[in-house]
Amino acid sequence: MQIERPILGKVIIEGNMRCLTGLHIGARREAMKIGGIDLPVVRDPITEFPYVPGSSLKGKMRSLLERRLGKEFNANVGGVRIHSCTEKNCEICRLFGSTPMGGEGENIPSRLAVRDLPLTEDSKEKLSEIETGLLYTEWKFENAIDRVTSAANPRQIERVPAGSVFQLEIVYTVENEAQLKEDLGNLLSAMRLLEDDYLGGHGSRGYGKVKFELSKIEYRKGEWYLTSKDEHRKEWKVSSIDEAISKIQEIAGF
Ligand SMILES: [Zn+2]
Repeated sequence: MQIERPILGKVIIEGNMRCLTGLHIGARREAMKIGGIDLPVVRDPITEFPYVPGSSLKGKMRSLLERRLGKEFNANVGGVRIHSCTEKNCEICRLFGSTPMGGEGENIPSRLAVRDLPLTEDSKEKLSEIETGLLYTEWKFENAIDRVTSAANPRQIERVPAGSVFQLEIVYTVENEAQLKEDLGNLLSAMRLLEDDYLGGHGSRGYGKVKFELSKIEYRKGEWYLTSKDEHRKEWKVSSIDEAISKIQEIAGF
């Protein structure tokens, strides 16, 4: 059976994500051209600039929200335990999507699209000037101790330097106006939780502290896509997550 999924509108959240500490989002080593680095970061294959895959940000927000809402971790995706169910009103699964395990039940597509985050032009310029021996990034030696043999295992970890800024765009599809307020609230609190957690690898070593600097939230009603009339569209200038949270009531009432 197919779930009905009307598109009543789209809510587009824009802004920047600033790295307050070095960020490591790993790429497969085979994908790496520069030799010598044990743990490279993911890069755009054409421009070679590092970027943040939307799936990395989305996955992290999901896992924080699952824990915050006390959801059961009942599925295994690539070795990571996550929550996934077929209850169509589940706050996690309707927002982030779910694929039933074992092929039974309905697939719930995600209401969220988290775009890949490219570096801002300003950050690209700054990172083009740094001299670290790597293109646009830095590297750091981390010494991991093997807990069984006590042998040191030094590794070179590549990271995007602190101060780098990425462009953020998250699109939320309004399928049920009665759930808009709760969904946006959950999304924004996941972003807030992430600011006090970490993105990417090696968070326990201090990597991956990020801050969201939002700029605007725009609500485009379904009618706008047909008419482009301004009455079907509204935008709110915001500068922080707190400010965005304070606008939820108004956005949901539009
Ligand atoms: Zn669920």
